[in-house]
Formats: sequence, C-alpha cells, structure tokens
Amino acid sequence: MAQSYELPYASNGLIERWGHWAPQLLNVAIVVSIGLGLRQSPPSALIMLVTIGLLAFVLVTWLLMRQHDRKLCESCAAGIPLNASEQAQRYGRRFRIAHLGTNIPVVATYLIVLIGSNWLLTVPNGRFVWAAIQSSMIYLITSHATHRRLQPWCPVCARGGGGEEPFVPEPDSPRGNGRQLV
Ligand SMILES: [Zn+2]
Ligand SMILES: [Zn+2]
Repeated sequence: MAQSYELPYASNGLIERWGHWAPQLLNVAIVVSIGLGLRQSPPSALIMLVTIGLLAFVLVTWLLMRQHDRKLCESCAAGIPLNASEQAQRYGRRFRIAHLGTNIPVVATYLIVLIGSNWLLTVPNGRFVWAAIQSSMIYLITSHATHRRLQPWCPVCARGGGGEEPFVPEPDSPRGNGRQLV
C-alpha cells in the first residue's frame, strides 16, 4: 500500500458506519416518506413533524454518504464483487447519473423540483405524481451506491471525471487550436 493518512473522521465509527449504510438508510427514509404522503388522511401536525424529521435525516445521511464516498472503507472493500469489471460495463447509465450528483446546477434544479413537488400533496390526486417524483431519489441513491462500489471501474472517473465533471466529451483532444490530424 502507498501512503495513507488517518483522518480524524476515521476514528468516529458511528459516523463511518452511518455513511457506509447511507444508501439503505436513505431508501428506507424515502419509502416511509412516500408512505406518509400517500395517506388519504389530511396532514396532521404529527405527520408534518415526522416529514420534517425525515427530511433532516435524509440531508445529514446524504452528506455523510458523500464524505464516506471519498475513501474506501473496509466494509466497502470486502464488498467488491469478483466480476466487478463485468458489472461496471452494465452500469454505464448509473455511473453517469452518479456523476450528475456533483453538478451543482443539476442538483439545485432537482432539489427545487423535489421540494416544490410537495405542493402536489394539496391537489386531490397530485400525491401520486408526487410519489413518482419522490421515488426517483431511490434510483439516484442506488446509482450513487453502485458507483461507489465499482468506482475503480467507472469509465467517467477513468477519463479524469474525478467526480467533478459529469461528462468529458473528448479527453484526448488537445486544447490548443483544435486541429485534427486524421
Ligand atoms: Zn463503506
Ligand atoms: Zn465515476
């Protein structure tokens, strides 16, 4: 192994485990949230409180997941499949979605739609559209988890995406005059 630096973060086992299990925790929170939203009964103060609590839980868990994603923990390393390369070839779309998660304008727009869609709960049948919008988060989180598990084989990262740029159109072309020799 090359150099490795122990961050203070690594000593906090609970935070690390929270980050490791973040995708599963987030999906459970989203399913509970959708279940609450789909209830026929009018929103009560208790449901509002639970909803706000869930939202806070989701935000914190998301941040911990991002922090956990910066390095490979032991549990993650143990979970890498033997045929990782084959699996990575099937998950190209999930990888691209995961990289979109680092695109601030895209994330901001998505969050606006996500939060704004709560308005649909006040419309008679709007909650079904709301549930569909909310459940899109499960796919996003699953994509993120897949990317984390198979990141060494992610073609976007391999092209220098590095988790910062969602798309790298022509990684080999020079930035100079743009001449092509072929
Ligand atoms: Zn992990
Ligand atoms: Zn990647």
